[in-house]
Amino acid sequence: MSDGGPAVRRLADWDREHLLSLADEFGSPLYVTDLQRVRENCSRLHSAFPDAHVSYAVKAHTGRAVLEAVRETGIDAECAAAGEVERALDAGFPGDRIRYTAVNPPAADLDHVISRWEENPEMTVTVGAADTIDRLRERGFDGRLCLRANPGVGAGHHEKVTTGGHAKFGIPIDRVPDIADDVRDEFDLVGVHAHAGSGISGDDLSAHRELVRRMGDLAREVGDLEFVDVGGGFGVPYRDDEPPLDLDAVADATREALGETDARLAIEPGRYVVADAGVLLSRVNTVKETPETTVVGIDAGMTTLLRPAMYDAYHAISNLSRPDAEAVPTIVSGPVCETSDVFADGRSLARSERGDVLAIGNAGAYGYEMASTYNSRPRPAEVVLDGSDTRVARRRETLDDVTLLERTASETIPN
Ligand SMILES: *Cc1c(COP(=O)(O)O)cnc(C)c1O
Repeated sequence: MSDGGPAVRRLADWDREHLLSLADEFGSPLYVTDLQRVRENCSRLHSAFPDAHVSYAVKAHTGRAVLEAVRETGIDAECAAAGEVERALDAGFPGDRIRYTAVNPPAADLDHVISRWEENPEMTVTVGAADTIDRLRERGFDGRLCLRANPGVGAGHHEKVTTGGHAKFGIPIDRVPDIADDVRDEFDLVGVHAHAGSGISGDDLSAHRELVRRMGDLAREVGDLEFVDVGGGFGVPYRDDEPPLDLDAVADATREALGETDARLAIEPGRYVVADAGVLLSRVNTVKETPETTVVGIDAGMTTLLRPAMYDAYHAISNLSRPDAEAVPTIVSGPVCETSDVFADGRSLARSERGDVLAIGNAGAYGYEMASTYNSRPRPAEVVLDGSDTRVARRRETLDDVTLLERTASETIPN
């Protein structure tokens, strides 16, 4: 395996000329994903948590090249939906390296996952409600089961990604031991699980510690478990002046808070694996001077990268075409008629001109995955870099693709 590389990869660390040439060759908006950086991130996780079972939360970036790169480093797949299980299998993860975490799973997801489990009986299913156990039972599932607890504490960079204490997620922790007793005869009870939300940072370690402490207590009370999974949520610095997460400190705090257990520690980061392995390239369409500011309109919008609109997320932005231009206060906006379709407001950015290429940093996690076709806007293309090799991983959607489901509606089979 490659070494872990630097603790963080900033936007300025990308090769500017190379990114410009990619925008020229493949058009914009364009996601660029560097597999070597994915490997480095995996490697640092392995180094910090040498004894832990590490899974990658696939939903952060489901691209096949990424999944294959992650698999080759020895990290397993944590899947949030039937489609992700399918992608993990396609990318070569064997059943014993796949976990499916069912949050209020639709019937079609359960049907699909159980049919895959029949072929891959070593797959693990995590449930967050006693009710879901009944639904698994109805489908003949009697395999590896993990119980998701609601530990009553959460942590996150935004209330919309703080899951640990929200009633939606998991079985109230004090009810888990009884449920564990109930299901032991019928299923292969292998673990307990919790996920506090996204964005564990240096400041947030107390919440993480508390969650892990409660999970350690739970694992000891339930007893006879293969693993205790304390979730993902490892933060990455989106701002240039934010320090990178001290992974060793998180690992130490985790081990200390967990205490002695026979169950093996498991973690399942998503964002940490892919965030700084991706940038989004976009071209300037329109430059508008107003008395207060300059509005730079680009060809990426909330349909390309939703995080700023949805979570008020900060992403570094730079004008690759004008590295030396004077910086001016700028609004960077997308082409959608929504006030939230803004990537940055009041940002100091090189004075931009039509046709310039802007790069938006840390776009590897929850970037392409949350792209939509709102405004009938085709989704962007993605290229992956692997050493000197560059290839299109997902082609650009066309207007034809966008209207395909309507044009072929009569072929639809009812669910
Ligand atoms: C989303 C999710 C993760 C990963 O969260 P990150 O913030 O991307 O690390 C892990 N586990 C579960 C259950 C999740 O839903």
